[in-house]
Amino acid sequence: MLFQIPKGLYDILPYEVDQEWKLSHYWQYLETVIRKTALDFGFKEIRTPTFERTEVFNRGLGEATDIVSKEMYTFLDKAKRSMTLRPEGTAPVMRSFIENRLYNARKINKFFYIASMFRYERPQSGRYRQHHQFGVEAIGNPSFEQDAEVIDLLYELYSRLNISNLTVNLNCIGNITTREVYKKDLTKYLEKYLKEMSEESKIRLAKNPLRILDSKEEEDQEIIKSAPSILDYLNDDEKNHFNNLCDLLKSINIPFIINDKLVRGIDYYTKTVFEITSSDLGSQNALGGGGRYDHLLSQLKGPDLPGMGFGTGLERILQTMIKQDIVIPDNSKPFVYFVPLTSHAKKIAFNLITQLRRKEIPCDIDLNAKKINQSIKNANLLQASHILIIGEDELQTKQAQLKNMISREQTTIEFDKIITYITNLWRDYEKV
Ligand code: AMP
Repeated sequence: MLFQIPKGLYDILPYEVDQEWKLSHYWQYLETVIRKTALDFGFKEIRTPTFERTEVFNRGLGEATDIVSKEMYTFLDKAKRSMTLRPEGTAPVMRSFIENRLYNARKINKFFYIASMFRYERPQSGRYRQHHQFGVEAIGNPSFEQDAEVIDLLYELYSRLNISNLTVNLNCIGNITTREVYKKDLTKYLEKYLKEMSEESKIRLAKNPLRILDSKEEEDQEIIKSAPSILDYLNDDEKNHFNNLCDLLKSINIPFIINDKLVRGIDYYTKTVFEITSSDLGSQNALGGGGRYDHLLSQLKGPDLPGMGFGTGLERILQTMIKQDIVIPDNSKPFVYFVPLTSHAKKIAFNLITQLRRKEIPCDIDLNAKKINQSIKNANLLQASHILIIGEDELQTKQAQLKNMISREQTTIEFDKIITYITNLWRDYEKV
C-alpha cells in the first residue's frame, strides 16, 4: 500500500472496521461525560499546544525518567530549536500557568484538559505512540482534602461511565529528602539480588532504583516483595497527611488499597501517589493515575505553589467499557430519514428537512434515492428511527408515508402537517 499509518497509531472512525473502541461516537460520548464531570467538580478547561520547547519536559519530568530518556518525539524546527511533541500533560500546564501568570487571577486554580500525548514506546496492546488523556491539575492547595477531591473526581468519572471492578492503589512517597534516605536503603537491599534481577531492573538500579518497584518482570517479583517499605521512612507531616487522606477517602466511600510499591514513573511527585487499575485490561492495567507535586512549580522557576493531579487514558477507558459490556449511547442516528423518489419530491423533502434541522431534530436525506429497497437498507445502516417516503403517488395525494423502523408501523401524513407531526414525535422521544 502506498500510504500506511505509522506504527503504534490508529484512526478513530465512524464505522467499526477492526476494533469497537475506535468508533467515533464512543469518543464523543466519553468526552461529553468527562467535560460534565470535570465542570461539576469546579475544574476549568485549559488547552496548551501540541508541542513545546524540549526543555519544558526535560526540566519538568526529570532526565532519568523513561519518558525523557527514551520516549520523546523530539525534532529540530527550521531555526534549529529543539521541540517535543507533548508526552504528558502536567509540564505544559505548568509552563502555561507560569507564563500567563494565572496565579494572579485566583488563589486556587483547578484545570482540566483532554489532549493527545505522544510517546515513542514499543507498540503493544494498550500502548500506543499517540494516545489521549483526560487530566486535571489542582494548584495552590497543599491539603490532604485536595488529594481526596482529585481522587474522587477520577473515581466519580469511572462510576458515571458505569465501570466496575476497579482498584484504587494509594501510596505516600514522601518528599525528596525522605526519598533520598529510602533510595539509599533500597539500593543497598536490591544490590544483594543483582544476579537474579531482570536486565531492565539492573539498568534501573543505578539510574532510578525506585522504578524497580513497579517492574512487571517475573524474576523481580520475589525480590520486590521483601523490599523495604517507603511508608516506614515518612516524617510526621507526611504520615499525618497520608493517614488523614485515608480516613477521608473511607468516609466518602472510595474503596482503596495501600500499595507501598506504587511509585509512578515521574520524579516530580511528593507525598500522595495513586493509580486506578482495572482487572479487565490485561498487562497494561493502569486506567489512570497521578499524585501530588509540591515543588514542581518552583523548580520550573514559577511561584512556590503545591499541586495535585492525574491523567487517565481514553483508549483504556473505552477498552474497559467494551470488556464490561457497557452500552454506549449513539447520538448520531437520524430521527427521520427522508426518501424522495423524484426530483419534485426532492425539492419538497429538502424544504421539510431544512425546517426540521432548524429545530435541531437530527434528520438525513437519501439524495440518490431511486429504489425504495435500497433506501431502506441505507436507513437501517444509519439506524434511523423513521423513514419518510415521498414518491409519485404521494405527490399526487399530497400525503407522505412515515414508517417507524422499529415497530414497522406506517402513518400517512398530509404534507402541511409533517413538521408539526414529527416535532411532536421527537418531543415524546426525547422525554423517554
Ligand atoms: P502516565 O502519564 O504514564 O501515568 O499515564 C496516564 C494514563 O495514560 C495511563 O494510566 C494510561 O491510561 C494512559 N497511557 C499512558 N501511556 C499510554 C500509551 N502509550 N498508550 C495508551 N494509553 C497510555
